[in-house]
Amino acid sequence: MKNKLSNIKKAIKYLNKNQCIGIPTETVYGLGANAYSSVATAKIFKLKKRPKKNPLIVHYYDLKLLKKDCNINNHFLKLYKKYSPGPISYILKLKQGSLISKNVTNKKNTLAVRFPSHPITRNLLKKLDYPLAAPSANISTKISPVSKKDVQDEFGKKISLILDGGSSKIGVESTIINLINKPQILRLGGIAKEEINQYLKLNVKFNNRSIIKSPGQGKTHYSPYIKLRLNVKNANKNEAFILIKKRKKINKNYFYLSKKNNLKEAAKNLYKTLRKIKKRNFKSIAVERIVNKGFGEVINDRLKKASYFK
Ligand code: AMP
Ligand code: MG
Repeated sequence: MKNKLSNIKKAIKYLNKNQCIGIPTETVYGLGANAYSSVATAKIFKLKKRPKKNPLIVHYYDLKLLKKDCNINNHFLKLYKKYSPGPISYILKLKQGSLISKNVTNKKNTLAVRFPSHPITRNLLKKLDYPLAAPSANISTKISPVSKKDVQDEFGKKISLILDGGSSKIGVESTIINLINKPQILRLGGIAKEEINQYLKLNVKFNNRSIIKSPGQGKTHYSPYIKLRLNVKNANKNEAFILIKKRKKINKNYFYLSKKNNLKEAAKNLYKTLRKIKKRNFKSIAVERIVNKGFGEVINDRLKKASYFK
């Protein structure tokens, strides 16, 4: 059809009108809006039912726009060169004249920034003259989305457009590293802590207590809203059982995260598996012990937060 706009053009049209759209990224799908607009970013909080105190990550194409918004430092440049575009977010100092909406930062003078590698979203970012604030495209505290269908399940007709970029390759959120003073990991994610440490020749620690938590926001996160038990040897009869290692017995309640005990593949399949279990109406989930390093630590972090739901 002659007049049919391409999806990218449609996306730009909606974003320019201060609307939110679903965008694919390699980590999880995002709910994107113009980070310079208070009208657009307010809609993100409303749609997600996200506490206003919880700041957003802003997505950039490259350093050109970023330099207008943030002060950059050597640790940032070193990490950027190796890992961006990719599944890592950096906390930087916000510049005074920056146009970033105060909704994004909760009026703080720091900003979380990321350079996603998904080609569709990169193509979109390249064509915009503003960066996109984009948290995960799910209702706050629930399971993050890793496909267009997941985003549709979360928001239905409340958003006008979701760009389809297939299923997210990494499948868990970005690693967040605070680079304001001594580097510190605030959230485990798509780039393993061990890898960052090897590269920086530092011993960067994970400190999730320093992540901004909003009052009233419970500990529950990434949750299917089903009871979940960790480090279980054998599940009960009617329980969904999440496994990493193959078992001889075949059982329709078993859900394998990986074919060959590969933790990266397991992380990728985590949210998809939780959604599948939810659709099958299980009332309880058991998870076998997962080794607590590399992507295993990321999976355990998400499952622990999901397990706070009682
Ligand atoms: P999400 O939007 O769901 O990917 O979560 C983003 C995470 O980044 C939240 O836990 C925020 O608290 C955290 N975050 C965003 N901006 C900042 C910041 N300036 N300082 C510390 N944490 C931040
Ligand atoms: Mg999220």
